[in-house]
Amino acid sequence: MEKLRVIFEKTVDWITEKRNLLFLVACFIIHAVYAGVFFLMDINTLALLNIFSCCFYFYYLVIKKDTSEKSMLATYFEILLFSVLSELALGPDYGFYLYIIGMSATIFYIIPSYVYKRFLYQFIGIVIVLFLEGTIIIADISFPDIQAAAKPYNSVIFLANIAITASLVLTAAFFYSKELDIVWNNLKYNTNHDALTGLYNRRFLESKIQQFLKEKNTNFVICMIDIDFFKKINDTYGHKAGDMVLTNVSACLSHTAGNDNFAVRWGGEEFIIYFPNMEQYEAYLIMERLRKQVEGMITEADGEKIRVTITAGIAAGTPNSNYEKVIKRADEKLYVGKQQGRNQVVV
Ligand code: GH3
Ligand code: MG
Ligand code: MG
Repeated sequence: MEKLRVIFEKTVDWITEKRNLLFLVACFIIHAVYAGVFFLMDINTLALLNIFSCCFYFYYLVIKKDTSEKSMLATYFEILLFSVLSELALGPDYGFYLYIIGMSATIFYIIPSYVYKRFLYQFIGIVIVLFLEGTIIIADISFPDIQAAAKPYNSVIFLANIAITASLVLTAAFFYSKELDIVWNNLKYNTNHDALTGLYNRRFLESKIQQFLKEKNTNFVICMIDIDFFKKINDTYGHKAGDMVLTNVSACLSHTAGNDNFAVRWGGEEFIIYFPNMEQYEAYLIMERLRKQVEGMITEADGEKIRVTITAGIAAGTPNSNYEKVIKRADEKLYVGKQQGRNQVVV
């Protein structure tokens, strides 16, 4: 099942990436099929109209090899023109007007960077449909020869047009919602994470602690961590090397915190690990392990081997504690560690 889901998601990603190309190919195929069908029906005028459309797509696909948004816009107007001419030739009973309505939804997806202009093109499409149908009805336009030849195939053509436009609209809606999902997830990630280190940020920590204090009845521990003499690292090796050290230390913190706890970038080179369900002595052992790991860690930047140490302060809270006060206590312990010579964990 998991394998199937992965295959499905990969296919959807591929189709999303190639959507313009696939759209042009689908249009070419639909027109080619219609050209053949109208020839078989002996309705040469409409067969020729479809061949003309095929040439349009052949030009964009093979000669110009253009799948940009510009070509999508050209496609929109090709579909409008094709639908208007088919509608005029056959009348409203065959559902060619559906393409214009279907495209007014689809255009929103296929030319995203046109932003407000998309509304204009949608408006043009809708006005064309209303004007066209009004004209056909009021002026009683008809081509009896063509309509007589097509009459036996009326329902088939109508159903085909409904099926194609419905698929078009559903596909556009599906991929549109998929894209919204991606944007939403990115937004959520960026709201909760620090861009440089990938750790959780302060905003996330505060909301998480508040949530846990409301929902859970457990003792918790806050560890405040600060890199020792970090200013010197920046001054000696440069800001970029400093960033690399920050990223490496963060990876260590994240690994130590595991899935049940939360490693947070609290500020510049200050971090917090929040243990929502832990006693102080357990947290102390974990932090000692982390301290030794960081001490043994080497960051290579521009051929230089950089070593850093950390100092940590630990404070515990109960379900009734004010978490801000617990953070403050952890910070005070950290300060004590700095005073006592750094590279240590203070409880
Ligand atoms: P101490 O042992 O007392 O903590 O000494 P320190 O030098 O680490 O203390 P301090 O907090 O004064 O210095 C922190 C430095 O961290 C200052 C700032 O330039 C640097 N810093 C903060 N954020 C970043 C960052 O995102 N990247 C880099 N490279 N440096 C940063
Ligand atoms: Mg520091
Ligand atoms: Mg600091």
